[in-house]
Amino acid sequence: MNLIKKDIIFSDVSKLKGVGKQLSKYLKNRKIEKVKDILLNLPYSETDRSTIVALKKLEIGKIQTIRVLVKKLNFPRIRNLPNKIICEDETGKIEIIYFNSREGYLRKIFPINEWILISGKISYFNKKYQITNPDYVTTLDKEKYVKKIIPKYTLTKGINEKKYRLISEQVIENLPDIKEWYEDDFLKKNNFLNWKENIIALHKTKDGQNSLSKSYKRLAFDEIYANFLVLSENRRKIKKKKENKSFKSVISNMILKSLPFELTKSQKNVLNEINLDLKSDTRMFRVVQGDVGSGKTIVSLLSIANVIESKYQCALMAPTEILAKQHFDLTKKIFFNTKIKIEFLTGKTDLKKKGEIIKDLKNGNIDIIIGTHSLFQKKIDFKNLGLAIIDEQHKFGVKQRSELAKKGGNSCDVLLMSATPIPRTMMMSLYGDMDISKILEKPSKRKKIITLSKPEKKIDELWSFINKHLNLDNQVFWVCPLIKESSFLDYSSAKKKFDIINKKFPNKVGLIHGALDKAEKEKVLKKFLKKEISILVSTTVIEVGIDFPNANLIIIENANKFGLAQLHQLRGRVGRGEKQGICILLFKDGLSKNAIKRIKTLKKSDDGFYIAEEDMRLRGFGDIIGYQQSGIKNFKFANPVIHEDLFLLAERYIKKNSIDVNESKYTFLLKLFDKAEIINQNID
Ligand code: ADP
Ligand code: MG
Repeated sequence: MNLIKKDIIFSDVSKLKGVGKQLSKYLKNRKIEKVKDILLNLPYSETDRSTIVALKKLEIGKIQTIRVLVKKLNFPRIRNLPNKIICEDETGKIEIIYFNSREGYLRKIFPINEWILISGKISYFNKKYQITNPDYVTTLDKEKYVKKIIPKYTLTKGINEKKYRLISEQVIENLPDIKEWYEDDFLKKNNFLNWKENIIALHKTKDGQNSLSKSYKRLAFDEIYANFLVLSENRRKIKKKKENKSFKSVISNMILKSLPFELTKSQKNVLNEINLDLKSDTRMFRVVQGDVGSGKTIVSLLSIANVIESKYQCALMAPTEILAKQHFDLTKKIFFNTKIKIEFLTGKTDLKKKGEIIKDLKNGNIDIIIGTHSLFQKKIDFKNLGLAIIDEQHKFGVKQRSELAKKGGNSCDVLLMSATPIPRTMMMSLYGDMDISKILEKPSKRKKIITLSKPEKKIDELWSFINKHLNLDNQVFWVCPLIKESSFLDYSSAKKKFDIINKKFPNKVGLIHGALDKAEKEKVLKKFLKKEISILVSTTVIEVGIDFPNANLIIIENANKFGLAQLHQLRGRVGRGEKQGICILLFKDGLSKNAIKRIKTLKKSDDGFYIAEEDMRLRGFGDIIGYQQSGIKNFKFANPVIHEDLFLLAERYIKKNSIDVNESKYTFLLKLFDKAEIINQNID
């Protein structure tokens, strides 16, 4: 067969020989759309036909290859009895069974008194080894057709193993040579195979199943590298020249004086970094990472003050209406004795008001606009937007970030606020295009949340405890077990718990879960915020970022099902006001050692960064909060926990070499990991 052409690799699978309409539909059900997806669909196991097994050492149920002498063929003349061929080697006997094969054919492939190779699944019947309908029968000289390692792939309806393997082999055995995107030295030094050999090894050896094998590592590295290329290109496009902002921090100093607290050292440092960026002549593209309650909001408002002083507009966007409203109220309070004009825009703003806002943003009558995603609709134009801030933005991918920067225009600085402390490798992969500021300490007056654990069977002891808190006018979160990644099950468990608690505390309980739409969720949250209800039963949907200053008690059921970082986030919902926060973790009996370790970590520490690192060590990166929504799920092969060395290597390599993503050698790599589109979008 001929080598397949390079460009076929990125064509639809239906371009392959033997792949018709129906089959390509089935393949697409398995997310195999382009030919390259076949390359990246690694075997999960293999059938080893490479070793010849002596008959006395056969293992029942396994596919094995034997070398035997044909002794006798037996063709019964009674219907329904199978044809039987008796063979033997030096160590024993075996019967080869055929149900529907013709005598002539069998006599041909089983010549009496000759040695042959047979490969198939071993069974045991009437105290004899058997192979029924073997996969291969061949003479010794054709050994190489039988003796091999045959990869097994996860399949889907409509495709059988043999069919898929034929397609996959067709591609893998006919790959063209591809020009490397790394230097030879680099490959050699890191013990990497060249790209084509590497793909072949992944499919033809056990390497594809071992994430620490050298060929798997090369693939994972390629993936990380492609990801980093996108980030560095994004950065290059965004960090362009701008007119620098000039201000003397007059307004922000005034605000600072009016605050009932002093900024922490971390807050001051971060504000300083932001101010330097604002004053510089390249655009700011920065993410502020700070644990829940570290005081990011005030930092963003002080930055806004400086940008307003330098005569630009500012936009502050939050992921939900209720959070946006909280920011709006706070902003109005903070700027109350200034002439700064502040407006609020969400999807719910009525049309007339919306029209006015659109007009005033365009003619510059509004200084600060606060709202939800609606802020970045097409219709909205700013007179001179100088700063766009996105709060709690872990739902934002690289692509959305660059779109936002584009929308903001040339003089718009961009600031993201993230409350999800994440480990370094994840940070690199998610925000490698941005500068990073960290708020490491929390306001010192904040009381540390008291974390307790309790077995679920003692749940009845809680009712009087809760009652005591309700009498003190406190509010309570009750987070329900996460049974499985199923919103239906989560819903049913939350609903059941709601019924129980509602009976004990009638008219005081609300329910919120993933099956509610956004508007309904916000309605319940508002009720809780206005203290119309005192207990909020929920699944894990409670929003990040919202201040419920009155909530001081959170009870988390089935706590061992959550990741540490997630528990930490949940716990951060309480103790945000004056009151002492308390978190009670409920557990089922019989906790594993690991689970006990995790509880200890939580009780001991309230440092989100430390907890995130521990979480990743104990559970793997997949469980860290925000993971599902974040761009990191794009990693199919690389794993920030076990491939940390590769992430660091990629970072060093990119920093050391001046890389132009548009060089043609990168096209293949970028297309392979579906990154080409992101790179090509135009940002000015
Ligand atoms: P987050 O970083 O989670 O967004 P917020 O900005 O909502 O945190 O701040 C949480 C609370 O801490 C707010 O009530 C805020 O007024 C208060 N706060 C912020 N900075 C300080 C500080 N330096 N000292 C005391 N309290 C502070
Ligand atoms: Mg916040």
